[in-house]
Amino acid sequence: MSDPIQRAGLASRFWERKRLDQLNQQEWEALCDGCGKCCLNKLEDEDTGEVALTRVACRLFDDETCRCSQYPIRHQFVPECIVLKPSNLDSHAYWMPETCAYRRLHLGQALPDWHPLLTGSADSVHAAGVSMLQATVSEFEIADEEWEDHIIEEPTGGA
Ligand code: SF4
Ligand code: SF4
Repeated sequence: MSDPIQRAGLASRFWERKRLDQLNQQEWEALCDGCGKCCLNKLEDEDTGEVALTRVACRLFDDETCRCSQYPIRHQFVPECIVLKPSNLDSHAYWMPETCAYRRLHLGQALPDWHPLLTGSADSVHAAGVSMLQATVSEFEIADEEWEDHIIEEPTGGA
């Protein structure tokens, strides 16, 4: 599968030598491993704050490509879709998947060895079994009250 993210030409292990707020736009975008998990609906326990990801995906998520089907114009359809950036990462990291590079670096953790920046292949996230490729159901098909039947166990992608 081709990589929609431009990772060529970046300095070796740039993420270990710069803070997240020092990255340029290409470096920032290249940290995304393409797992698709931030496009999942989540359940949050009001009392404990505990978050569980479900395999019930956003209406625009295409699990045949593991990408947003309308990324450049997605806010026309899903205005609440997050634009992640260094300044708002602190408020979102708590619900992001444990494998997500942004969350991991924010918490001072290393990138997993299957990350495309380390393997040179966008497919390595899928081969590692941590993406949502062909592993979701659409939010159109599942009523809200049934989401808890579709909770995924991290770091595995498929339920
Ligand atoms: S969860 Fe993180 S690494 Fe995965 S697709 Fe979303 S932003 Fe990229
Ligand atoms: S609009 Fe696109 S990027 Fe945003 S959550 Fe939905 S599928 Fe993901």
